[in-house]
Amino acid sequence: MYEGPIQDLIDELGKLPGLGPKGAQRIAFHLLAAENAETNRLIGALTRVRDDVTFCAECGNVSADRLCRICSDARRDATKICVVEEPKDVLAIERTREFAGRYHVLGGALDPLSGIGPDQLRIRELLRRLGNQEDGVDVSEVIVATDPNTEGEATATYLVRMLKDFPGLSVTRLASGLPMGGDLEFADDLTLGRALSGRRVLV
Ligand SMILES: [Zn+2]
Repeated sequence: MYEGPIQDLIDELGKLPGLGPKGAQRIAFHLLAAENAETNRLIGALTRVRDDVTFCAECGNVSADRLCRICSDARRDATKICVVEEPKDVLAIERTREFAGRYHVLGGALDPLSGIGPDQLRIRELLRRLGNQEDGVDVSEVIVATDPNTEGEATATYLVRMLKDFPGLSVTRLASGLPMGGDLEFADDLTLGRALSGRRVLV
């Protein structure tokens, strides 16, 4: 244990996901030795994330405005909606450059043991989007791109059940080939791109 502020910082950093006590200590001492300008930039970024980041009213992605960059881009195909768990999955799919449609961010996956049911996810918002016409265009395909693990599969199964009665809507799922049990964001661009272009029809 160190004394005072440096230990407080190590404790706070240690609570962050993916950062063990060693990593927390390394970052804390890096910041202690850093120039004021560097720590000020970090403080500024943290403050802006706390105060300025909002979520897109349409898709739920993180956004600086009411609508995110993708939802407000008229060139994006409004007939296709790719459903993902988290904003980081939007980035992962964007990196593949295989998808020109829109997204819907659920905010997680079904996980009854942790108390996450359909009402905790943005599923109602998805159904509302499908019910309304987006920009006067009917959505013709929903691509379920939840993670290839137990919770992601359970979420996909649930979504299929909710979506199968929408007339004229096809529901597809990323092709297999993604590492099972994994997180979408950890798939390399090529594998994820192939999974996207080889998606299979569920309904
Ligand atoms: Zn959006």
